[in-house]
Amino acid sequence: MYCTSLHEGTNYGEMSLRACARICRETPWCQHIQYDCHKDCILLEDCSRMRPTVCGSSIYHYDTTASIEVSTASEEGNDFNGVVLALLIISGIVVMGGVVWKFQMCRRRQLKASAGLMAADRVIMGRLRTTRFDNEDDLQPLTYLAAQNLPAYWSTAAELPEVSIEIASERRTSLARNLAFDELAYVKHEHLRSFQNLVNHTYQPIPTQDRLCPTEQHGKTRGGCPCVQPGGSPGLPTGFQVKRVIRVEDSDMFNRYILRREKIKTSRGGKCQAPEPAILTREAIQQFSGLQGVVAELDPQLNEVYLWHGTQVRIGLQIAQEDFSLTFAGSGAGTMYGKGLYFSESSTKADEYSKDEPSGYYDGVRALLLCRVCMGEFYYTADREPGAMEKFLQGISDSTLGDRAKAVKTYREFVVYDKDQVYPEYLVLYERLHGERPPEPPPKDMPFLLELPLYWKNVGRNPKIQDFHDHWLVRPKITSMIYRLALHTSENTCPKVQRAKRVEDSVLWCKYMNWKKQLAQQLRSRKMERCTPPNELDGNPSSGHVLTGEILAEHDGDEAISLENMVAGLNELLLWHGTSREAAKAIATDGFILNAATHGRRFGKGVYLAEDLRKSLSYCKESDGVKYVLLCRAVCGEMYYTEKEVHRDAPEQAVQEGKQSVLANPQQVGPREYILFDTAQVYPEYIVEFVTKDTE
Ligand SMILES: [Zn+2]
Repeated sequence: MYCTSLHEGTNYGEMSLRACARICRETPWCQHIQYDCHKDCILLEDCSRMRPTVCGSSIYHYDTTASIEVSTASEEGNDFNGVVLALLIISGIVVMGGVVWKFQMCRRRQLKASAGLMAADRVIMGRLRTTRFDNEDDLQPLTYLAAQNLPAYWSTAAELPEVSIEIASERRTSLARNLAFDELAYVKHEHLRSFQNLVNHTYQPIPTQDRLCPTEQHGKTRGGCPCVQPGGSPGLPTGFQVKRVIRVEDSDMFNRYILRREKIKTSRGGKCQAPEPAILTREAIQQFSGLQGVVAELDPQLNEVYLWHGTQVRIGLQIAQEDFSLTFAGSGAGTMYGKGLYFSESSTKADEYSKDEPSGYYDGVRALLLCRVCMGEFYYTADREPGAMEKFLQGISDSTLGDRAKAVKTYREFVVYDKDQVYPEYLVLYERLHGERPPEPPPKDMPFLLELPLYWKNVGRNPKIQDFHDHWLVRPKITSMIYRLALHTSENTCPKVQRAKRVEDSVLWCKYMNWKKQLAQQLRSRKMERCTPPNELDGNPSSGHVLTGEILAEHDGDEAISLENMVAGLNELLLWHGTSREAAKAIATDGFILNAATHGRRFGKGVYLAEDLRKSLSYCKESDGVKYVLLCRAVCGEMYYTEKEVHRDAPEQAVQEGKQSVLANPQQVGPREYILFDTAQVYPEYIVEFVTKDTE
């Protein structure tokens, strides 16, 4: 008997009911969902509707073969699991299932406790990979109240045309249901000047004891050590160069913020005492007209203001994705006014708390969050007062304004004790400036790049030291984007895209990036400016850039595939690779396995990729009416060009000529194929499933 239900995005049709039951038994990490599915297949259907991300749990993804291989694949020294599993196989699954589940729970807790954030999503057994849902259904949809307050310049606001108009209640519900989002997007280059203005205008040349000694010679010094004084060496930064700005659009966080603001409004009768003098950021925003297109209109009666918060790039990205809980939990929380979130009206003050990543990817690059903060009724004090939080807890105040500017001529501190009083709207990436150099607009054609694509859920991690191996089942919006891309590259003949998974894999990514880096170094040492692009080799203007061009035309490029990380000069292209279901899995977990990827061998041994999807589909081994195609980033480098029908030693000749790939264009009519020799040249970013027959 076989289970026919769909389970976490994978069809386990070939799996025995028994194995499937085991999977289901191992998933109830989510305590909100109670189910019992080891009895029969009908109950199993409930599992398929489960939404694990609702409460942040993840599912370990089993191969039917994994239990057999597990003893050889205990990559984290998790031998006990291997023993338990071996026992399982011998003594039957139903009896022991609970034991394993329990053990896993403990193991998971241990991992969480021992390594904090880093290990929470680790794959802990064998070749298992974590599959997760990136689905609108799991996001909190925008409430009506929040929808009414949605900033007009948010990209998501475009989907909400009639907010200001009185809407019938049944439409409100559908409206809110439709609008659930959780996105990070780069702010357009033309707006960078506005953020630079805001940073400049809120700069104040005052060092304090919180500015760490950059030379590490001095400890905490009242008024700052000699190295951070204006004119010192290296001295107080003379300014900050804005490099890139990211906007955070998150319906859940925005709901909470607006709701909290509404509560403050009600409790304070809509009016709070205003600070004296006016807040610097508010002044700046009023002064520079360009800023009004990128900041929301705030409620001055509730002391709602934009304020700075200094951090690190990666922490900033994590806060942007999840909110400020991290900072609350960590040591970042200050103590001068109690355990709260500290903000500043001055970019210089916020910069004291920012950090870069010496000799890491973000060396020299720091981050400021520009947050909407609802101060409400603040408690004013000029002294240090760790007990100030009591006033908040007693309901006397909503926040604290610590006036150190008045007391010791430094800065005013703005402190809130509830993370819902903060919406981190922008993440500003910047560098400190020293000396005479003034800030200048960064080049438009060479934007600063994050280490990972912005739309990756793991964007805030460090792939070199924090392993992740996630497959994200992408949102319908992205699936349909991939479908449009598929249609365009198959002259509208391709089958429907059933679903797609995005492969976020730290090991594969690092391998790929290293290869790219080495190629760039090679080119430099040979004094080559760029590789010869495919269209110059075959004389066809569209070759090699079909997929890339298509995405560019339809998207800003940031929401599903960023072209930014792709280097045209290295012939880095988006290409398809047709495969089988088993190979698709293996490829995405282990990288390309060259043997599995040598189709036909018409052009010798290598990984075969194509820009025409029909070519890739022709290589697919269909399973259960589904064809698996990978959408890959591929660095082709210098290409050996051939127009022969069959050219088996092309790779050898290419290598002899110091080239990195073969571009085959049989008889000059194609379809063109790209043959790459090293698996590190390819990053399989999406596993796309095409349905070749109606399964209904
Ligand atoms: Zn010093």
